[in-house]
Amino acid sequence: MVTALYPGSFDPVTNGHVDVVTRASALFEQVIVGVYATPSKNLLFDADARVDLFRRSVEHLPNVEVREFEGLVVVFAQEIGAKVIVRGLRSGSDFEYEFDMAFMNRRLEPEVDMVSFMASQEYMFISSSLLKEVARLGGNITGMVPAHVANAVSAKFAKPVR
Ligand code: ADP
Repeated sequence: MVTALYPGSFDPVTNGHVDVVTRASALFEQVIVGVYATPSKNLLFDADARVDLFRRSVEHLPNVEVREFEGLVVVFAQEIGAKVIVRGLRSGSDFEYEFDMAFMNRRLEPEVDMVSFMASQEYMFISSSLLKEVARLGGNITGMVPAHVANAVSAKFAKPVR
């Protein structure tokens, strides 16, 4: 049985992430989504909220589990018995970053390998950071994220009622 780990900040989960995890769940017996608790990014959602939003997005996938983690991805992968780390690739810049990460991870832990999924065409241009910016400016993010995520993002940017 092959367990795969799909790690990320997921601030918040998008339809692009759900697409990757859905495709991974068809290939691997078990997929653990690892929500990185303390990324060096300005976060919109705390770790609990990011886990909750992802969990609700994959309720229909029986072999997918969502867990929070801290520290090195490869160490968490070993803890949960994952031989594969799953990532998604949208563009050339993703590739360069993922390539560096893959080399570093291999160096840290040669037993764990990396599998990258090419983004599906319809989700190619969706990123958590861009959609947060759009939502902050009052733009419509319907179709980029699951409905419950769109509601949670809107609530964050809702103007206080006077
Ligand atoms: P990071 O882990 O770098 O903080 P994210 O949490 O946003 O980044 O994304 C986790 C993983 O999912 C990364 O490998 C990223 O390239 C990939 N990803 C992000 N958005 C998409 C998308 N729309 N389609 C496919 N893969 C994506």
